[in-house]
Amino acid sequence: MAVNISAQSPILVTGASGYIAGWIVHYLLQSGRTVHATVRDPNKLSSVQHLLDSAENNPGTLKLFKADLLEEGSFDEAMQGCELVMHTASPFVLDGFTDAEVALVKPAVEGTKNVLASANRSPSVRRVVLTSSVAAIYGDNIDAQTLPNFCIDESLWNTTSSLTHNPYQYSKMAAEKVAWEMQKAQQQWDLVTINPSLVLGPALAKNSQSASIGTLKQMADGSLAFGVPHLVFGVVDVRDVAQAHILAGDTPSAHGRHILCAQSLSLLQIGQCLRGDFGQYPLPKFEIPKAVVWLFGPILGPVTRPFISRNVGYDISFNNQRSLSLGLKYRAPKTTIVEHFQQLIDDGLIRKRA
Ligand code: NAP
Repeated sequence: MAVNISAQSPILVTGASGYIAGWIVHYLLQSGRTVHATVRDPNKLSSVQHLLDSAENNPGTLKLFKADLLEEGSFDEAMQGCELVMHTASPFVLDGFTDAEVALVKPAVEGTKNVLASANRSPSVRRVVLTSSVAAIYGDNIDAQTLPNFCIDESLWNTTSSLTHNPYQYSKMAAEKVAWEMQKAQQQWDLVTINPSLVLGPALAKNSQSASIGTLKQMADGSLAFGVPHLVFGVVDVRDVAQAHILAGDTPSAHGRHILCAQSLSLLQIGQCLRGDFGQYPLPKFEIPKAVVWLFGPILGPVTRPFISRNVGYDISFNNQRSLSLGLKYRAPKTTIVEHFQQLIDDGLIRKRA
């Protein structure tokens, strides 16, 4: 079913204060669209000032709405008149919580249900673009070991994460499954999912809380100077992730899931991308044997031994053909990583070093 979204109808972006959503809203305002942006606290300037600035400098129109994933009906007002809904809001935290059900799974799953129930009550809605993740597709790198070239594609689902092992990944899988179930139960709107790998690249907000910034901060503060485990991720630029959401909304024939990955990189390779421009920082130079990581990893940081066992030393790659068919063009990961590191320095999140 082809869905043509009118350029005049407002677009709802949930979680607009977020790292990825900030760029989505910015590009929509640049192209003159009207954005209904939901945030938990529209008066918290540290979360919304960059959105207000973008609205000031671009032809589009921004309307802020207060909405919480855990409040039933919270998105009804913001969704009025919208043909397109981009649901990005979901907690992206990997540690620092005691109850994964409360911190991650409930807001991800109940939040998706609430947003889609609002869509069911809003006759204008024709398409929902859901920010899912490759975490909905696989849980640990070991899951890819039986696949040709260790290559993950959209036909797979994460069957190995749980509340106790990789709960963030579990929350993304559970939320995407609920979204497909709710889509199939009605005929008013279709669903397109965007499944990014690790998102890096400059943030528009100075105080971004996304877990995306953790790896680069560790590269800068010396905690990886003695080496890194052989840990491989897919990497994609935040600006390309935002463009993918817009292409998914505006391409009438778009359907199904879309893995976003520019390239698979190990932690060491991420460090190497920074060496030319930021050689004054204590960047990692070596990979540490898995046995050493297994022994000391859980003492030094928030990683568990099952995570180390199932991820360290296992390569993985991603089939990004479906995203290319949307017309997405990927930035080179080195550009992404260097520009992100520079933004963190400019915004005082990484200490300047001469
Ligand atoms: P982020 O900056 O932490 O954004 C998450 C957003 O979710 C924030 O705007 C936050 O709003 C909102 N949120 C959290 N709990 C909420 C609640 N109870 N009610 C309403 N809003 C709530 O993280 P991000 O990296 O941009 O992530 C955005 C989406 O992309 C998430 O769905 C994440 O799973 C997905 N994703 C991220 C990556 C990545 O590497 N960054 C990769 C794949 C997928 P507040 O400002 O009110 O807290």
